[in-house]
Amino acid sequence: MAALEDVESLPRGGFRCRLCHVPVANKPSLEDHLRGKKHQRLENLRTARQAQEQRSLFVSGFRKGTPASELSDYFQAYGEVVNVVMDKEKGVYAIVELKDREVLEKVLAEPQHSLGGVKLRVKPREKKDFKYTPPRKQGSAKREQLSPEKLAQELCQATDVDAQMSLVVQLFEFSEGERRLRDLLVALFQEVFLEFFPGAAILPFGSSVNGFDVSGCDLDLFLDLEKTKNFQASAKGCGEPQAEGGASPEPDARSEDSILSDIDLASAAVPEILELVATVLRKCIPGVHNVQVVPKARRPVVKFCHKESGLRGDISIDNKLALCNTRFLQLCMEADERVRPLVYAVRYWAKQQVLAGNPFGGGPLLNNYALSLLVLFFLQTRTPPVLPTVAHLRALSEDGEQTVVDGWDCSFPKDSARWESSGNTESLCSLLAGFFQVFGDYDFAGSVISLREGRPLTLPSFLASEAGSRLKLGPFNLQDPFELDHNVAANVNEKTALRFQRCCQNAAKYCRSLQYQRKSSKGRAWGLVRLFQPGAPEAEAPAAADSFVIGLPLPPAQAHQPPCQAEGAHQLSFRKACASIAAIFQEVLKCSCSETPPGLEEEEQQQQQVEAGLPAAGAKRSLDTEEGSSGSPPAKRLRADAVAPAQEGMAWQWAVWHHVWLGRRRVRRQLHGLQQTMDALELEATVSEAISQQEGEARPGSPLLQFTLCAQMGDGASSGQEPRLSLCFTPAPEQAAAFQEFFHFLQGFLPRLVRQHLASKA
Ligand code: ATP
Ligand code: MG
Repeated sequence: MAALEDVESLPRGGFRCRLCHVPVANKPSLEDHLRGKKHQRLENLRTARQAQEQRSLFVSGFRKGTPASELSDYFQAYGEVVNVVMDKEKGVYAIVELKDREVLEKVLAEPQHSLGGVKLRVKPREKKDFKYTPPRKQGSAKREQLSPEKLAQELCQATDVDAQMSLVVQLFEFSEGERRLRDLLVALFQEVFLEFFPGAAILPFGSSVNGFDVSGCDLDLFLDLEKTKNFQASAKGCGEPQAEGGASPEPDARSEDSILSDIDLASAAVPEILELVATVLRKCIPGVHNVQVVPKARRPVVKFCHKESGLRGDISIDNKLALCNTRFLQLCMEADERVRPLVYAVRYWAKQQVLAGNPFGGGPLLNNYALSLLVLFFLQTRTPPVLPTVAHLRALSEDGEQTVVDGWDCSFPKDSARWESSGNTESLCSLLAGFFQVFGDYDFAGSVISLREGRPLTLPSFLASEAGSRLKLGPFNLQDPFELDHNVAANVNEKTALRFQRCCQNAAKYCRSLQYQRKSSKGRAWGLVRLFQPGAPEAEAPAAADSFVIGLPLPPAQAHQPPCQAEGAHQLSFRKACASIAAIFQEVLKCSCSETPPGLEEEEQQQQQVEAGLPAAGAKRSLDTEEGSSGSPPAKRLRADAVAPAQEGMAWQWAVWHHVWLGRRRVRRQLHGLQQTMDALELEATVSEAISQQEGEARPGSPLLQFTLCAQMGDGASSGQEPRLSLCFTPAPEQAAAFQEFFHFLQGFLPRLVRQHLASKA
């Protein structure tokens, strides 16, 4: 490949060598690099790999467990076999490297191959781009999970709020290792999908690539089957099928045992194709598990988990607009260096306030995409603006950049250097304060936020427009910048919208104080630290009559507690109560935490939780102030707590697998003989076990119910009344009715069991 194809131009005159992943500042340095040893070595390696590819076969169809030697013996009949690489994990395919093209052609000339009585699928190995992956450094690809305490400590040491905001980015963004791991995974997916879907491309989008990456965030992938469809169509017709780029005809798309033989991609429904994608994921991609098709989502996806890294991901096949809005977010991030820290700070604040991050992809909270748009909109509306409007960008776009996706105009300059630079000089500190101020007073229900126009659209005029008649209006109206009839916050309910506004008001008030603006000379929490302290719905607003809330008394603190230690003691009681609640859901009701920390196997994780008596630290939306510190003395906690009593909060995401709330009395009667030998907790656990067994499968395909549980220390703790714990349950969307019954059962069951559990621990 010519060296020039390896070079990518960067904004402001720089370049990047795609082959070596090296950025260089200017042309002379680029030339030096291209002549240099590293580049030359990689070029040679690429040439060697390509030659190797050209004489290799992709073989599948053999019996599971077939040894490499057997395949090697079989193909020896046609000429020398240099190497056989088996798909280690699933044993369903192998790459057979032959001595030269001549042997390969001999093998391919044979119309049929069979080994041990089964028919083999034999085809040339797909050609793929050579990607250099530097040797892996020692240690994990993932950052260690950052505890809120550690985050607060680090932030307190910064010099000012601007420095704190930059630090937030550094602490949350991907490590080099994690980025590389994602690149490798994408390359692996690409390789395997190409084998099954000729011409297919795997394209990452979302936070892995839009510049707002947070260690451990999901991996959003788009499988582009456009070329495969064309290819299939031409293979079906009588013309000679041409693979991508007019390369050699692809023999398999027509053959009766091709994965494509049973499906017509052009006419098949999306869920049907996703089932096929799921099959490839399950059977052919090493290290992938928990594969699940979610056909009913607005954008149907296949969800998966990568075992080794713990990464979770989605593959969609019908989401080109997301590629486009990902590029837009990325360009906004490049256009002004304040965008990134601002988005990170707002995302983390919103997560801590339980305003953003929906655990089930639905739910009433804002998602991170919507939240990022809100920040961008805010930046468009500053005087002078920090970012241009989407309409203005459209006007700046040139001929080659005009794009229409699914009927929507997605034209904007694809190089941020061509976006006019901003005359705005506000600091990060004041921009963040401004964000809260603006949205603290915002009428989310009475207008539509438009990034295209860079201003709110009033309802009457918006409704009269074409997109306006289709957009789903609600308590929070945020128009997608490209898909103009889509409200990206349509899922947000009134309660969350009001809470968002109230939280912004509180934050704006705090931002006016010196505690926000200046570093504390006395080692107290200042700046972002107090903004990032967790809050939860019930802290600001009494629970609505129809919400699912259970109040519990906190277990008594130690007797004769000096008043100055009472607060710490309440926190300890709170943590004990939370540990009991987690144990009851997990051990007694056989529920599971639906999110596990990256890198941990579920069983391992559960084991750890059981041992620690704690909820999953990795719960995506956790207000995880505890993080393994259930037993740590209050003195170990940050001094910040002493300044502003921390609102203790804990959140879990639970999945219920069986009807453990039904017919317990009957089962208890059946277990009559055991009652004498077991304590109450064991007995209840056995009852749940029996119900699960009666229902069959240990873990059916999907849980019966999913819900988020937020535990919050009640007001009593600070006002001298009896301290209470408030448990707020939020069922997954569409499950509110089914959840009612389970909740009714919990209202009686949970307080009793918590009492018993705490007593058993005492
Ligand atoms: P994170 O995964 O860290 O929460 P994200 O930006 O990747 O952040 P996802 O919910 O994973 O958020 O969505 C992935 C991408 O899909 C988004 O970045 C955006 O491009 C697109 N997307 C998500 N939600 C919407 C939506 N409601 N409307 C349009 N596009 C969306
Ligand atoms: Mg994502």
